[in-house]
Amino acid sequence: MAASVIVLGAGMVGVSIALHLRRRGRDVLLVDRQEPGLGASFGNAGLIQREAVHPHPFPREASEVLRIARNRSIDARYHLRALPGLVSPLLRYWWNSAPSRYARIAEAHAALIRTCLDEHLALARGTEAMELMRPVGWLRLYADPRKMEAGLLEAEAARREHGVNFVALDARGLAALEPHLQEERAGAIHWTDPISVTDPHGLVMCYARRFAEAGGRFVHGEATTLTRLPAGWRVRTADGPAEAEEVVIALGAFADRVTRRFGYAPPLFGKRGYHVHFGLRGNAVLNHTVVDTAHGFVLAPMRAGIRLTTGAEFAAVDAPPTPVQLDRAEPLARRLLPLAERVEPEPWMGIRPCTPDMLPIIGPLPGQRGAWCAFGHAHQGFTLGPTTGRLLAEMMDGETPFLDPTPYRADRF
Ligand SMILES: Cc1cc2nc3c(=O)[nH]c(=O)nc-3n(C[C@H](O)[C@H](O)[C@H](O)COP(=O)(O)OP(=O)(O)OC[C@H]3O[C@@H](n4cnc5c(N)ncnc54)[C@H](O)[C@@H]3O)c2cc1C
Repeated sequence: MAASVIVLGAGMVGVSIALHLRRRGRDVLLVDRQEPGLGASFGNAGLIQREAVHPHPFPREASEVLRIARNRSIDARYHLRALPGLVSPLLRYWWNSAPSRYARIAEAHAALIRTCLDEHLALARGTEAMELMRPVGWLRLYADPRKMEAGLLEAEAARREHGVNFVALDARGLAALEPHLQEERAGAIHWTDPISVTDPHGLVMCYARRFAEAGGRFVHGEATTLTRLPAGWRVRTADGPAEAEEVVIALGAFADRVTRRFGYAPPLFGKRGYHVHFGLRGNAVLNHTVVDTAHGFVLAPMRAGIRLTTGAEFAAVDAPPTPVQLDRAEPLARRLLPLAERVEPEPWMGIRPCTPDMLPIIGPLPGQRGAWCAFGHAHQGFTLGPTTGRLLAEMMDGETPFLDPTPYRADRF
């Protein structure tokens, strides 16, 4: 089987790249060991986060580090066994989170984020994907008025510097938007720009269908079988060996398993996350995704029910799921909203592919002609798939890209 480009990994990032390349006339073969969209892109909170101009830093205050070290919180947890392997990337993550370095990183992150709504809409407009998109923003709830004040200062800066829009809500304003919240909060920041997607997997599948309708091909295959040929690349697929002049590695948290074999060992680490769905009792509704900052969980209204998601779990990529954070969050979520029973017996788990400088890796694989990287999008890969797709396709076609790719280049590590 021959193609001009093989894209390895059919998550939001890989599918978006494949679609962009196909629209540019490339003969694209998209390869995944599963059906498209079943990795991290399946079960996230579904937010296209125009407000996320500041990436998630490593906490710098001692009190925060101590809180997390106690390993009892909902927003962050770790497997003791995994810590030795995580020390190096986490130290670098902490170092990059120092204010002076963080400011530069946030600039580069914001440059990607600024484009996310336009780039998603460029793929979605005129298709059934629009039915999954609700332009209602999301709500960041605060229990402590002082924390809300601090949050508002940051929001003001984001508005001033990056054109992000929000509305500050007091307790009454919040109750008007979300009348079925059962516990009072001091208030909320309503980020009004983001799009809330009611079925993240469904959106990946819509883009995958656009790719197939445009003549793109999808096949099951194992990316770790990738080998270099004198003039190109080969990978084993269910339909036999596939060969192409170029290959894109868009394997999310598993990307380094392939790149290491070609001499590139990025300091990639995973932040695992979980979800489970609930029904709502009586006539209750949830109009917006809410992030409860007091406890560190998210409730998102989805087609499948109210999706409860958790923060980060630091563990080996292959370690069995330990959805402890969900169990901790559930009683608190039930106090906030009249949740009915769990919809599915087993929680879902996905892995956010993270880098120590909080920026994705987009660009040529160092020292390997015809190979390209597109992974490490951490907390915002669902948001940034289409942006990455356009950026990488323009780079691969030798054009001047629509934004400067320098901060995301692979050889920065
Ligand atoms: C709980 C949670 C909530 C989140 N909320 C949001 C949000 O609201 N907004 C947002 O923007 N982001 C969010 N994220 C982050 C987002 O989900 C990820 O950044 C994004 O899905 C990464 O996309 P990807 O395509 O790089 O990786 P993935 O979606 O993981 O895709 C990688 C693909 O590679 C395939 N693969 C891996 N190894 C191999 C192999 N050896 N051979 C063949 N195929 C292979 C996998 O099967 C998979 O399909 C959240 C994440 C979690 C866990």
